[in-house]
Amino acid sequence: MSSKHYDLIAIGGGSGGLSAAERAATHGARCAVVEAGRIGGTCVNVGCVPKKVMWFAGSIAHTLRDAADYGFDVRSGGLDWGRLVAARERYIGNINTWYHGYLKDSGIDEIRGHARFLDSRTLEVEGERYSADHIVIAPGAVPRLPSIPGAELGITSDGFFALQAQPRKVAVVGAGYIAVELAGVLQALGSEVTLVIRREHVLDGFDALLRETLLEVMQDEGIQVVTNTTLTAVERSDDGLRLHCDHGTELAGFDSLIWAIGRDPATADLNLEAAGVETDANGFIPTDPFENTNVPGIYAVGDVTGRIALTPVAIAAARRLATRLFGGRPELRLDYENVPTVVFSHPPVGTVGLTEAQALERFGPQSVKCYQTSFTPMYAALTSHPSPTAMKLVTVGAQEKVVGVHIIGLGADEMLQGFAVALKMGATKADLDNTVALHPTSAEELVTMR
Ligand code: FAD
Ligand code: NDP
Repeated sequence: MSSKHYDLIAIGGGSGGLSAAERAATHGARCAVVEAGRIGGTCVNVGCVPKKVMWFAGSIAHTLRDAADYGFDVRSGGLDWGRLVAARERYIGNINTWYHGYLKDSGIDEIRGHARFLDSRTLEVEGERYSADHIVIAPGAVPRLPSIPGAELGITSDGFFALQAQPRKVAVVGAGYIAVELAGVLQALGSEVTLVIRREHVLDGFDALLRETLLEVMQDEGIQVVTNTTLTAVERSDDGLRLHCDHGTELAGFDSLIWAIGRDPATADLNLEAAGVETDANGFIPTDPFENTNVPGIYAVGDVTGRIALTPVAIAAARRLATRLFGGRPELRLDYENVPTVVFSHPPVGTVGLTEAQALERFGPQSVKCYQTSFTPMYAALTSHPSPTAMKLVTVGAQEKVVGVHIIGLGADEMLQGFAVALKMGATKADLDNTVALHPTSAEELVTMR
């Protein structure tokens, strides 16, 4: 069987794979992308994009609720879930179409089907062979289900985006990004939401100020939070799904159960052994700082590496890799330190750098000084649902270098990017204080904190 040869093949047409091929092609490389599902990957089809549309819908629901407090005589006619989902999917369809056209116009071959390795330079897709000098593995990750009886009665984030009707009473299991985002959206849109978490808090690893404030707001909004609880079984009963908890208690009457307990790398069907590519115990592909796997000429980027699982990280790593390989910049690599991130909870959370606890552990209590504020933002002050805003700056040393910025509240998502630039450039508290405030905004608190 003859094979078609490329300079670079990317396995996976998601954030990482598309970016690697696109950047390599701009440097003149002959490239192909292999995609088994919908072009654009998780972010476009079942991740960031549909999630953000639903988040906007939740925010509109909150605005409608607040409108009367601003003097409007507005009666919401209720949500037409089907119309919202259809509009969202039309938007995503347009992005898919745009990508197909973009790949064609860029001279990148789009190979449809599931790729598996035959050897370290050759892939098989739908019975055809393709070889390349450089292969970028970017197949992403898939949602995890727990190994308990009845787990299959629940859905994951993929199933959430496939829902054609709004769940009336829903249990969300998990305490990470997806759990708090979906719980917030569903609550805002009018579902009755129970969040089941294993610990006392959500967003483990985030600064305590953000974790505590978010949990408080979620409960104030009416989400029932069941803490310190692990599910042991799920069954269908006359009154809907019944969840059995480890303390012997039960939660009942749900028409939907959403598992949001993490994601596993999509490496199982790649036949990595044929290429000699190693994985860790959980199936992730370890990479060095230059995205190299243990096999020369084979690289991995994005969620499959087990590093920070965010779209801009996959894109940035892939672009730097392609420029390193084809753009004459052998030293280029992504700096994984101080990556900003936003959780699209209601209200949103924005964070970059070290938490207070991490800074104390790394630099000791003598070196660390934190500035913190909590207030009712002006928008909310007029409403009967005054959700708080809270902020923390973590600084170290006599210069008070800013090593952490943590924000929760309306606008935190759009506030963070510029402060992440400042932190990355090594800004001190004095630099922030030296910047004239924007008034009246919530962001001005970040340059006026005492
Ligand atoms: P993916 O985007 O998952 O792409 C991998 C592609 O490879 C898939 O299309 C898959 O079909 C394909 N594939 C897999 N195996 C093969 C094979 N053998 N052959 C051919 N094709 C294959 N990140 C953010 O930054 N902001 C957000 O707001 C955000 N929200 C999210 C919300 C949800 C619900 C989820 C699940 C994720 C979210 N993320 C968000 C994370 C983000 O989607 C991922 O970090 C990102 O998509 C990872 O890109 P990737 O290229 O590694 O993988
Ligand atoms: P996360 O890793 O963020 O969270 C998984 C959560 O599941 C953890 O909080 C853990 O909680 C909990 N958990 C694990 N196993 C169990 C179990 N058996 N029972 C109950 N709870 C369990 O994963 P997600 O699936 O939420 O998201 C995957 C990744 O996708 C994120 O880490 C993020 O990188 C990315 N993402 C980014 C978004 C954004 O940028 N806004 C949005 C969505 C996803 P604990 O250990 O505390 O008990």
